Amino acid sequence: MRLVEVAAGILVATSRRDSTTTTVVVGPGGRALLVDPAWEVDELESLADDLDTLGLTVEAGFSTHAHFDHLLWHPRFGDVPRWASPETVRRSTSPEGRAALLAELGPWPAELVPLVARVQELAAPAVPWPGPRVELVVHDAHVPGHTALWLPTRRVLLAGDMLSDVEPPLPEDGPDPLAAYAEGLDALEPFAAAAALLVPGHGSPTAEPLARLAADRRALAALAR
Ligand SMILES: [Zn+2]
Repeated sequence: MRLVEVAAGILVATSRRDSTTTTVVVGPGGRALLVDPAWEVDELESLADDLDTLGLTVEAGFSTHAHFDHLLWHPRFGDVPRWASPETVRRSTSPEGRAALLAELGPWPAELVPLVARVQELAAPAVPWPGPRVELVVHDAHVPGHTALWLPTRRVLLAGDMLSDVEPPLPEDGPDPLAAYAEGLDALEPFAAAAALLVPGHGSPTAEPLARLAADRRALAALAR
């Protein structure tokens, strides 16, 4: 079993590559929201096995941002809506964007390639699904359109590639990436302050999200110097 319950109804698996996390939010009747499933093909298959074992059916997917390791999928997860912010969809589904993603991904089974980045726009404030409320916190740090997910009833923050203990702040793109990153941290602060648990896209979940935020602000200040 790869999936570990880190909070009530929140399961996390950690890839052997870059400690990349997959998060499953469990809803009523064994319906599940699958966030950023990753990474290696055998790991995706194990995730499908785990979901079967747990009696969970994927109701929808969510990709936090337009980097290939957060846009993967496996046929066994099902042909369900896979949501992302409009900017994430724009970046990952344009012909040039998709070509760049696939080039970065490298060798990948032919049958899985069509499933990479098959995401659709979600402009709503929350994921449409029957499970606990999952709100989008969209900002332009790490990559424009990056989206953290906030579960107010569980006080869990899924931070995407922000607030990680293993991946330092990686600003990119835009005219002033450091300022955009700082704004992204500001956008996350109220949720980090309210969260009982933070799950980063790479690394370990923590019960002290504000410490991660402070560490990222220090790292950003060092980058600025
Ligand atoms: Zn990323």
